[in-house]
Amino acid sequence: MYTRLRTIGWNDTFERHFAALDRPDLIPGRVVGVHKTSFRVLTEEDIRMVVPAGLLLHEDLARSEYPAIGDFVALRPSEDGGVLVALLPRQTKFSRAVGGAGGRISALTEQVIAANIDYVFIVTALDADFSLERIERYVAAVGASGAEPVLILNKSDLVRDQHEFERQVRESAPDLPVHTVSALDETGVSALRAYFREGVTAALIGSSGVGKSTLTNRLVGAGVAVTGAVREEDGKGRHTTTAREVYLLPGGGVLIDNPGLREIAVWSETARDTFEDIRELALTCRFRGCTHSSEPGCAVRAAIQAGRLDARRVEGYRQLEQESQAASRQDSRTSRRSGAGRSGRAKGKRS
Ligand code: GDP
Ligand code: ZN
Repeated sequence: MYTRLRTIGWNDTFERHFAALDRPDLIPGRVVGVHKTSFRVLTEEDIRMVVPAGLLLHEDLARSEYPAIGDFVALRPSEDGGVLVALLPRQTKFSRAVGGAGGRISALTEQVIAANIDYVFIVTALDADFSLERIERYVAAVGASGAEPVLILNKSDLVRDQHEFERQVRESAPDLPVHTVSALDETGVSALRAYFREGVTAALIGSSGVGKSTLTNRLVGAGVAVTGAVREEDGKGRHTTTAREVYLLPGGGVLIDNPGLREIAVWSETARDTFEDIRELALTCRFRGCTHSSEPGCAVRAAIQAGRLDARRVEGYRQLEQESQAASRQDSRTSRRSGAGRSGRAKGKRS
């Protein structure tokens, strides 16, 4: 059953969960686009825009239970689209921490940005981007999601000795599959195509500028984007455009290229753990709510100056704090507006 859905990741486990719903009025599908008030869902027959059932908008529903890109769901089809009724249990999930009360790190809640991804290609470039520490952070974030990490060392055309980089990676992460490629001249790219068997879902993550878009274009080739650019009105009457995010590859397999996923390491729960020492230090700053930029008596800046703390890590920490605060401000604005959708939902009870 559901042969088309199987090519894009549907399997016996999903089928069992779907059957257990015992709802002959529902059909299964996969979320390939999440918009402000609707979802784009690929079903066995077609692609349709569906709206969330009231249950999914209930304020007691944990935020992490809201459908994300890659989720398999059950929907009630109708002439003009349908209603997304249930989320089928996820096999892997990428979460980020979003602001809880006051936007403080201690009150973050989990938001799922992508689900049911089998392989995550961690893309780094053999130039100034190369950092074993960053690679480790990405590997930890992928591990936490349940997906398999695969490291891609891109821009091999820029270096004389790629083996030195490969050697360093093998030493720090012996089990991590590593592919050295040049997305520009296509060297090594064919080895990556082998991952996209039927039913496999993969995603690319990595800093901006490392070549994710170039690589996506190479891999997708004659594939189809199932998330077209969608224009819709936000609550203030402005139009927003959602980029293409999900591609069906010619040999079967799905590639997810999601902006939230791209920078996951900054957001992940794992990243929060790696900032534990900074968080503790920040408790000893003179001012509560110290931003560690110019306040007097800042323990964090003092530690940087004394060479006990890496300024770049502090930058990452500040970025996480600022972004989680921005997310929580955004939350309180949108929930007052009673809007539906990913950013407009009331905060979950988990915190
Ligand atoms: P993204 O931000 O990760 O999506 O990176 P892009 O795909 O936009 O690439 C950033 C820049 O790096 C562009 O100018 C690309 O042409 C260039 N680039 C991508 N892959 C390679 C590569 O393998 N070698 C070289 N020399 N440049 C590359
Ligand atoms: Zn401070």
